[in-house]
Amino acid sequence: MPILLLALLPVPPKFTGESARANEAQPQTNADVLRAVFDLVLAPLQPVAQEGTVMNCADGKTCLCFPIFSACIADHPEHAALQGIGSKSCPKCEVPCEELGRDPRLMYETRDYMLYRVKVFRHEPAEPAGIAEYFQRLGVKIGNKVFTGLDRVSPVDLHKPDLLHSIYLGLFKHRMEWVEGFLKKHKRQQAFDDAWKEIPPYPGFSVPKMAYREITQWQGKEMRNLGRCISAVLASALRNPDSSQYQDFKSALNCVSALVDFTLMAQYGSHTPDTLSYMESYLQTFHRTKVIFLEFRTSKATGAQANRQDRELRKLMADQRAKEVRHRTVANRRRLADQETVERSDQRADLIQRENHFNFIKMHYMTHFASHVRRFGSISMYSTEIGELAHEDQIKDGYHRSNKNEAARRILSHYGRQHALGIRLQTIEALSKVESVIVVEDRGMEMPTVPSHSTPRRVLKSGMKNTSTLTELCTALNIHYSNMMQEILCFIRQTAADDRRLPAGPTEPGLLPVKGFAQLEIPVPDFQETDRLQIQRARCTGTRAFRNGGSRND
Ligand SMILES: [Zn+2]
Repeated sequence: MPILLLALLPVPPKFTGESARANEAQPQTNADVLRAVFDLVLAPLQPVAQEGTVMNCADGKTCLCFPIFSACIADHPEHAALQGIGSKSCPKCEVPCEELGRDPRLMYETRDYMLYRVKVFRHEPAEPAGIAEYFQRLGVKIGNKVFTGLDRVSPVDLHKPDLLHSIYLGLFKHRMEWVEGFLKKHKRQQAFDDAWKEIPPYPGFSVPKMAYREITQWQGKEMRNLGRCISAVLASALRNPDSSQYQDFKSALNCVSALVDFTLMAQYGSHTPDTLSYMESYLQTFHRTKVIFLEFRTSKATGAQANRQDRELRKLMADQRAKEVRHRTVANRRRLADQETVERSDQRADLIQRENHFNFIKMHYMTHFASHVRRFGSISMYSTEIGELAHEDQIKDGYHRSNKNEAARRILSHYGRQHALGIRLQTIEALSKVESVIVVEDRGMEMPTVPSHSTPRRVLKSGMKNTSTLTELCTALNIHYSNMMQEILCFIRQTAADDRRLPAGPTEPGLLPVKGFAQLEIPVPDFQETDRLQIQRARCTGTRAFRNGGSRND
């Protein structure tokens, strides 16, 4: 998927506390500026969406095409800003914010952004309170919505599920907080850490380098890695429960496994009705069992409220005790103090149980996954991951190379130049595949043919005798030594940062013991994507330890 940088959006200054109240007009100005920038960016799309344009089609013919703006792939705060909705509102449906964590089978009215627009223009000026209440109930802000009113664009369909932000950096992060709380309550943290450290290496899986509790910041890739092993590690940490823990442990494992299963299925490149029904049933299991983690869902506000209530209660009890202190014995006083402690902790637990909830937007997003697949296809193709990766090349690289003065302009021009050169090189490469030798413009520079894509193959090397050196290995495998050398030199150049590590002559590596070549890269077709290959690395370390674990001889 090509990603082109079209514009850099202005970031308005943040006003908090007093300054936010003092600048009431600022949010409106910010929204207007954003709208104006998007109008400018989307303006060229308007005439072609209406009248169409002749384009080369994949079948080799030219067709009249109507390119339309069809997806906005971003995190929730960006959606909320662009669609003009509240931070706890869904851009697709009118779910009330206190029902975001409810049963996924419940359906809500689809948002009608055109209706909102009409309501704003046609409302009675005498009744501003009525319209404000209407929009507040629906979680919509009055004002300009960036995507409303574009030709042939359905604003409600622009939002796409995003695995990176809603699952890996959203729900997985929350889940690990709940799991941590649960382990702490049942004193199983050490068992979890021990199991975590013992995870053996496996092709395509990076072994965690630190103990679980030492990791302070998680990235999307690490969260995905965690998703692959969390069920097994948790099951190991929660083994041998006593009779009072058995049911709780079972529910916690069911809940975590259901969420893992759901996300693994959500990553499928193609779906059938069966896979979708599995996805839905995993989601329902997750919602049914999530109550086990409710006590660990305490928000900062609830925590502060509980502390306040506890302080007030303690003061009240102390006052009461001071009045009665003369009439009590020492043993009596101690018993009373114990009773007070129990009562305070009960009150705190009651409040937390009452106030805690699962009503956050990323919990609700999952309910739209299956319907999205039915209408638009697999979820993974809409991930923000590719866009986030492109930040490095398209923005950060240009910024670092600039003198930080008028950086936006320099970022755009730097990227424009790099992109144009990249396209040119790709064109030359594509042309060179067609003809054996091509001449680049009028400079007479000849480019040799790039060898066509060879079929990857893997060679099993075990069980061969008389192969102590590389030369003997070549003879045993019936590969010409010079070909092997060429490939090895090419590999060393790509992987070794230091040129001095290159062998001096072509015969030198031939005498090296074959044990030194201890890594084999095996191309394996990707799951559901047979034309894409994943490189898995098989390693042979002999008796030496591999990373933190024992020896590895794949
Ligand atoms: Zn929704």
